[in-house]
Amino acid sequence: MDKAKRQDRELPRSYTEPMVSSNDAVLSDGTSGSSRTSRDELPTELGDRYSRQILFAGIGAAGQQRLQGAHAAVVGVGATGAATAGLLARAGVGRLTLIDRDFVEPSNLQRQVLFDEEDARQSLPKAEAARRHLERVNAGVAVQSYVADLTPGNAGTLLQGAELVLDGTDNFETRYLLNDLCVRDGRPWIYTAAVGAYAATMNVLPGGSPALKRPWWAELAEPTACLACLFPAAPGGDVETCETAGVLGPAVNLAASLAVAEALKFLTGQPGRMRRTLLSFDLWNGDRSEISTGHPRPDCAVCCNREFRALAGEGRPQITLCGRNSVQIHEHHRPVDLVALQRRLTPLGEVRANGLLLRFSRPPYTLTVFPDGRALVQGTTDVGLARSLYARYLGS
Ligand SMILES: [Zn+2]
Repeated sequence: MDKAKRQDRELPRSYTEPMVSSNDAVLSDGTSGSSRTSRDELPTELGDRYSRQILFAGIGAAGQQRLQGAHAAVVGVGATGAATAGLLARAGVGRLTLIDRDFVEPSNLQRQVLFDEEDARQSLPKAEAARRHLERVNAGVAVQSYVADLTPGNAGTLLQGAELVLDGTDNFETRYLLNDLCVRDGRPWIYTAAVGAYAATMNVLPGGSPALKRPWWAELAEPTACLACLFPAAPGGDVETCETAGVLGPAVNLAASLAVAEALKFLTGQPGRMRRTLLSFDLWNGDRSEISTGHPRPDCAVCCNREFRALAGEGRPQITLCGRNSVQIHEHHRPVDLVALQRRLTPLGEVRANGLLLRFSRPPYTLTVFPDGRALVQGTTDVGLARSLYARYLGS
């Protein structure tokens, strides 16, 4: 991708021209987004709350009303996902689904904007901590949180009803799963990534079979490329991660801002305005790159041949999480009684539980166990050792 980088210092047209040339933004349903009469069309309280967004010609009162009725999902609410969810909730997107498998730690607080020191002290699951925070930000948004790893088995159920999916993950495995599901269902999703000072995002607007075409499809001449068109396989070799290269808060927030601006276009019924490129920035060097994603790759296994291998669960390894020396064990799908487990483990080491998870420390390892049987084993990247620790303390 580096070779394809274009260090374009010129402002793109979209930055130099107004998004909408008059006050009368016509949305795809034929309604007007006029900012002059807009605030009168919403209840006073909402018109006031969202007044600055309604005044923006690209949204207007009609766009704001569509946001109220919209449903978006954010998969992964750590760094980019937390910033993404926060922007969507403040914008007034009526329903949000949040999915995250992890819990809050002190090292998250440098960049993960929905969490505070108390969340880290309590080791709250991020999905739950995010939901509590967003309910204080905007009580008018219905937030559904799932403390879960997105898997081929649960992805369809957890994402049900969401018309747009935003990527807040830190791994290609989950992104390929999202890509498969969304391409299969003809549902748009937005890829985001942040590592070091680098931020990137790309809209995936799939076509699908004619039967799957959504009402918004009429706005688009053709689908965009999907994730697998650009990256047929996950980048291998010496790939930078948050663990090796660190990550800056500004990169996280830029990636989220770019993604949410695109989301607002879609959720207000203006998919034709969405960018058809993989856009990336290096905030430290000032580089900017844009690669066209305007056309699907004709031999793409996913969007052209409709082979959904990730959704079928093929090649699904154990996962080493970004930012920690840890392995996730998620192969035991059976409920765990955390109270009984706490009783059993207390003689063996330090145990802390908060009703949503249990943490068992026996240096140099810490096991974090969720009620569905999933566990994060910290202190190793050795999958075999992590499995044996799980079997020893939770059973096999
Ligand atoms: Zn594709």
